[in-house]
Amino acid sequence: MSGDSGLSIIPEPECNQNSALPTLSSAKSPDSEEHEDWSKIGMAGTFKKCITLCCARKPVKEEMVKDTYEEAIAGLKKLLSEKGELEAAAAAKIRQLTAELGGATGNGAAEKPAFDPDERIRTGFDYFKKEKYDKNPALYGQLAQGQAPKFLVFACSDSRVCPSHVLNFQPGEAFMVRNIANMVPPFDKTKYSGVGAAIEYAVLHLKVENILVIGHSCCGGIKGLMSIPDDATTQSKSDFIEEWVNICKAAKAKVRTECSNLDFDQQCTLLEKEAVNISLGNLLSYPFVREGVVKKSLLLKGGHYDFVKASFQLWDFDSKPLPSITLL
Ligand SMILES: [Zn+2]
Repeated sequence: MSGDSGLSIIPEPECNQNSALPTLSSAKSPDSEEHEDWSKIGMAGTFKKCITLCCARKPVKEEMVKDTYEEAIAGLKKLLSEKGELEAAAAAKIRQLTAELGGATGNGAAEKPAFDPDERIRTGFDYFKKEKYDKNPALYGQLAQGQAPKFLVFACSDSRVCPSHVLNFQPGEAFMVRNIANMVPPFDKTKYSGVGAAIEYAVLHLKVENILVIGHSCCGGIKGLMSIPDDATTQSKSDFIEEWVNICKAAKAKVRTECSNLDFDQQCTLLEKEAVNISLGNLLSYPFVREGVVKKSLLLKGGHYDFVKASFQLWDFDSKPLPSITLL
């Protein structure tokens, strides 16, 4: 710390209101507490601007400015920790300001504030509760009684393709399974019990009317499938991924045979869609799915979301069993 103390290194009149910022939390008056808290928040914002403007007009040693920032951050953090009763919005504002101030330190170059996962989760839920839950009491009251989704949806785990966003599914509309490359494995109680349980629950207990399998552009799982060497003697490079994506190896063989003139990326795009058809075919290996399809109480649909072009293709499965599917 330099010889000058705190913010007093900036003598301009418009800066004076902020000069006590780092020590305000220890000089509160009981009857003006609330007003003082808010004024501190506003002042912190002014303070940042003030530092920028004042430093532009008057040379200040970089080290001194850094110390000043650090003191301001320390003061705001102290305020935050002492003021447990602050409204959530005020506390969030202080956190944002301390992060911004922190980002302004370090040789004049802005540093990215450290990502705080707890804070991200907290603010995410706060937003959801305030903007959605509290504004839709009828919907959430109904959902508290139970769910009756019309769809069972298979989608990729890819963070860019959440069906609730892409198709605007509201809570209660779609029972969801997400996995690598949105694949439906064939009926197998031992290897794929997790997926089987989800399908069984959705079809027999929730009585969904539609099963939608959605592929997507630039799918890493599909690229992985396309990249697996055909040589069966080659040792697998992963514990789980290769065996999982091989669920749709029949689609890979089809694309390779029928579209050998296309380049790798084009083949992958086709495979993203052909793999959906394999999954739709695999659904018929589940007796309760097949029964629903035969009775026409259950429709199977394929989809492909292209997030580069912002387009969505939808098609019905014609229920003709594929050669690779053995019906039970
Ligand atoms: Zn994917």
